[in-house]
Amino acid sequence: MKTLLTGANGLVGSTLDADIKVSGRREVDLRNWEETYNLFKKERPTHVIHTAARVGGLAANIHNMGEFFYDNMMINLNVLEAARRTDVKKVVSFLSTCVFPAEVEYPITEDKLHEGEPHLSNYGYAYAKRMLDVQARAYNDQYGISLGGLGFMSFNGKYISVIPTNIYGPNDNFELENSHVVPALIHKCYLAKQNKTDFMVWGSGEPLREFIYADDVGDLTQLILESYEDETPLILSNSQEVRIRDLVKIIVEAMEYKGRVFFDESKPDGQYKKSTNNSKLQTFVPGYRFTSLKKGIEQTVKWFIKNYESCRK
Ligand code: GDP
Repeated sequence: MKTLLTGANGLVGSTLDADIKVSGRREVDLRNWEETYNLFKKERPTHVIHTAARVGGLAANIHNMGEFFYDNMMINLNVLEAARRTDVKKVVSFLSTCVFPAEVEYPITEDKLHEGEPHLSNYGYAYAKRMLDVQARAYNDQYGISLGGLGFMSFNGKYISVIPTNIYGPNDNFELENSHVVPALIHKCYLAKQNKTDFMVWGSGEPLREFIYADDVGDLTQLILESYEDETPLILSNSQEVRIRDLVKIIVEAMEYKGRVFFDESKPDGQYKKSTNNSKLQTFVPGYRFTSLKKGIEQTVKWFIKNYESCRK
């Protein structure tokens, strides 16, 4: 097995081992067909983990709708096509639960991915990611298995998409305004402790989210690469809903913050819940022991404090 990893510096990418790591557009611009194809022809990987994407918070998505659509479409079209032309055996690509329909019946299951419009705030990103699933399906249909000369079946390649819930962990983007809830709140709590100010949390604290530690996503991805054979997408989640208020308590404890916590209800709550059904994952890895949120947060907080000067923030 010779593995190529795209997005090697990202939250998931940094937890994974690979023979060839591509970490940014200065190295290889995956939006560019020639550069992408040359990489695959030169390295000849047998397996690909594709995590690279143009990502950003709410504001970045709203203001760059066209760029988010174009960049992600090009990256995915190029990576899967280059993999196909160089006979890669398996490609595992990353989607995200925020590409599901804005109005969807809970709990979310894999088959609901295309059953309605994504949220208006990120439809450029969401449709491009959904097309990755369409491309994978079309490639599995056309190229996955072929009939040889004497009617022998021959296996050419497999394209799998995974859909993790809210990933957190070291190496995340800890920006205050534009990052996801875990890194944003870790950073805010850190500053509140340093500056002896209130710890300000957005919204009512009531919404529910599911969190998965980046190392677990890394482990599961490795298992999927080695032995997951189903071609339809797979949700990666422990399917345990956590109230934002309880997440805040865990962060406060891990940071040993003794000051006041303030819920700023003038800030948005966003969707109330995004629960998933992880039965498909449970069937694949029965009894998989997810890292507890408490332990994952403790490790992330420790990492953040240690790497405060150099981390993305
Ligand atoms: P979402 O799952 O796409 O909505 O992503 P987020 O990771 O941004 O989670 C948003 C939830 O966390 C919402 O209910 C917010 O109100 C709540 N939240 C509380 N404080 C913060 C914060 O400082 N940053 C972010 N991004 N969300 C926060």
